[in-house]
Amino acid sequence: MPGGFALDPGPCPCGGGEYSRCCGPFHRGERRAETAEQLMRSRYSAFAKREVDYLRRTHGQPAPRRALLQACRQTTWLGLTIHAVDGGGGDDLEGTVRFEARHQQGVLVETSLFQRRGGSLAGEWLYIRALELND
Ligand SMILES: [Zn+2]
Repeated sequence: MPGGFALDPGPCPCGGGEYSRCCGPFHRGERRAETAEQLMRSRYSAFAKREVDYLRRTHGQPAPRRALLQACRQTTWLGLTIHAVDGGGGDDLEGTVRFEARHQQGVLVETSLFQRRGGSLAGEWLYIRALELND
């Protein structure tokens, strides 16, 4: 059984409550993110929980597994705050989420772009990339 998720009673790294009911179901493949914000939160939690496979399957151009695992190990995440959401809802094909993710070495502030796979409402949400200030 990968990860032993059911035995993890702690709080969700994203701050949304108990992990087993918050982002856990996404990582276990039981639920699919319905909004860009849900995907963003679940990806943050996946970084904190080192759920590398989830990170790869929710990324438009996934990095190699080993590189991702190494990146996860190098950072201790401390908390997440969502600052703004634009689009990314049930009827959208695209959306952005601006957030602040705190870690031991500082703070990552990013506006992430999300799109649905295949440009279709039936496609699941994917992380595409961080937007630059002039995007
Ligand atoms: Zn969560």
